[in-house]
Amino acid sequence: MTQALAKGSIVAVIGAGAMGCGIAQVAAAAGHQVRLFDTRQDAAAKAVAEIGKTYGKLVEKGRMGATEADLARERLHAVGSLGDVAGASLVVEAIVENLDVKRKLFMELEEIVGDDCILATNTSSISVTAIAAPLRHPQRLVGMHFFNPVPLMALVEVISGLATDKGVADVVFATAESWGKHPAHAKSTPGFIVNRVARPYYAEALRLLSERAADPATLDAVMRDCGGFRMGPFELMDLIGHDVNFAVTQSVFNAYFGDPRFTPSIIQQELLNAGFLGRKAGRGFFHYG
Ligand code: NAD
Repeated sequence: MTQALAKGSIVAVIGAGAMGCGIAQVAAAAGHQVRLFDTRQDAAAKAVAEIGKTYGKLVEKGRMGATEADLARERLHAVGSLGDVAGASLVVEAIVENLDVKRKLFMELEEIVGDDCILATNTSSISVTAIAAPLRHPQRLVGMHFFNPVPLMALVEVISGLATDKGVADVVFATAESWGKHPAHAKSTPGFIVNRVARPYYAEALRLLSERAADPATLDAVMRDCGGFRMGPFELMDLIGHDVNFAVTQSVFNAYFGDPRFTPSIIQQELLNAGFLGRKAGRGFFHYG
C-alpha cells in the first residue's frame, strides 16, 4: 500500500487566497510543516494570522484541542520568497487559474525543489497534462483539486495527466486521506469530474436569470430548500469568486472547442467588469459585510 507523506515533512502552499489558506490550514493541522507563499505583499503573513484565529475558534467549539492548535500554529509559516520552499516534499499550487502563469511557476519551482518533491496543482479545470508539459520532470506533476471551503469539503480529486507517474498520484491520494479527506482518482479531462458536472448547474441558472424567470435569491432557495442542493447556484458562484468561476467556464468552453453547452455568461462577465467578484469583494449577486 502506498504511504502518505510523513508527518513533519514540509508542504509548501503557493497562493494565499481562498484555497491556499484552506489547504495550509488543513496541512498544518495534519502534522506537516507548512510554508505559505504569495506574490502579494503581506498576503501570506495575513493568511497565517487568520488561520491561527480559525484554529482558536475551532478550539472554542471543541473541534480541536488547545495543544493541537498551538502545535499547528507553530508548524505554519509565511515565507517571503519562492526560494524558501526548497526543502518541500510536496508543493501545492493555488494561484491564478491561468495556464501560462501556472507553467511559469512550476518551471521556477523545478529549479528550487529537490528531484523527489511532488508538484501538485489545485487547478479547477486546466489540463494537468498541459501544465506539466514544459517541465523537466512532468511525471511528478499531479492535480490535487480541493473544494471550497477546503477545511469543510471532504472531496479531493487526484488528477493524473498523460505523463503523471502512478506512484506520485498514489502518494497524493494517500496523503489526502491522511488529512481526513476523501480523495478520488480522475484523469485530466476539462473540468475533471465535479466542475464538468457543475457547469450546466451554473449555466442553466444564469440562462434562467437572463430570461427573467426569477431573481437569484428565489432560484437559490428553490435549488437549496427544495432541490436538495447544499447551496443555490448564485450563492455558490459568489462563494467561489466570479473571476475563478468565469475562468473555469472559459477554460472548459475552449477545451471542448466552443461547445455551446459551456458558453460563458455575459451576466457573469459584467460582474467581473464591475469588480463584483462575490463574497471576497463584498459584492457579487448579493451584498456581504
Ligand atoms: P484567489 O484569487 O483567492 O487566490 C489566488 C492567490 O494567488 C492570490 O492571493 C494571488 O496573490 C496569488 N498569486 C497569483 N499569482 C501568483 C504567483 N505567481 N505566485 C504566488 N502567488 C500568486 O484564488 P483561489 O480561489 O484561491 O483559487 C486558486 C486556484 O484554486 C485556482 O487555480 C482556482 O481555479 C482553484 N480552485 C478554486 C476554487 C474556488 O472555489 N475558489 C475551488 C477549487 C479550485
